[in-house]
Amino acid sequence: MRYEGKIYRPPSEADSYILQATIGCSWNHCTYCDMYRDKAFRVRDLDETLADIRTAAKSFGENVTKVFVADGDALVLDLRHWEAILPACHDAFPRMKRVSAYATAVNINEKSDAELKRLRELGLSLLYMGPETGDDVTFKRIAKGSNFDEHVEAARRAHEAGMKVSAIFLLGAGGTERSREHAEGSASLISAMDPEFVSALTLTIIPGTPIAKMQAAGKFTLPSVTRMLEELRTMVAAASPTDAIFRTNHASNYLPLAGRLPQDRDRIVEALDKALSGEIALRPEWSRGL
Ligand code: SF4
Repeated sequence: MRYEGKIYRPPSEADSYILQATIGCSWNHCTYCDMYRDKAFRVRDLDETLADIRTAAKSFGENVTKVFVADGDALVLDLRHWEAILPACHDAFPRMKRVSAYATAVNINEKSDAELKRLRELGLSLLYMGPETGDDVTFKRIAKGSNFDEHVEAARRAHEAGMKVSAIFLLGAGGTERSREHAEGSASLISAMDPEFVSALTLTIIPGTPIAKMQAAGKFTLPSVTRMLEELRTMVAAASPTDAIFRTNHASNYLPLAGRLPQDRDRIVEALDKALSGEIALRPEWSRGL
């Protein structure tokens, strides 16, 4: 397998085969993100992608149960590519149960209902979406490229096609100024998108990103750790998905939590209250990652 540049995947895809069918992110504007700034976006040559699948099949094909298609918004691939890639994965990995990819709201909303249904038939069953916030002012400030309603519409259409949705939120994304609106809006968006999986990451300002420049210019202030945990508390307490697996197991977080929402809401809120009062220790700064 040939990989170009650094590869990112969600924590829950740690044991998946990563297939790099696109290079970089077709959007690449989010102010906090430096994952693909060094890569000019392009769709990988289809023959190369299919050759990678064949190589993976020979090396460990029997062991693959999950495939994650990279990079940053692989759903942007047109149907012609998916029509070749997904059947090739099925042939190569007889035990494969799931194919997933990152998707922006734009990626989903640009596909027709028939295309989304066809993708599901071909085996693409889980989309990781990163709205990061539910506050329309914050959406604009972080240059997410879509707003609250567009994320709701994208999740609705993915669900209608039979796909599962994993929604990722970013503690601190609203800065100190929009912290309350960011937390409350995120809770509303979790309820409205009704994802099967919800996770939260904690914003880390990376040098060289637009948000770092805004911070240096005094236009963005990262909330304190306490305030970001309070944001998480608000999200968990107010969000009402039907039945979502909730995790904060990303390395960027100060407090790893897991459970189901809404069933385990009280237990998770209690753990957050204990962390906020100092009864539960937070992950030390040096052990956090991006
Ligand atoms: S859509 Fe995702 S990968 Fe692309 S710039 Fe935004 S956060 Fe980064």
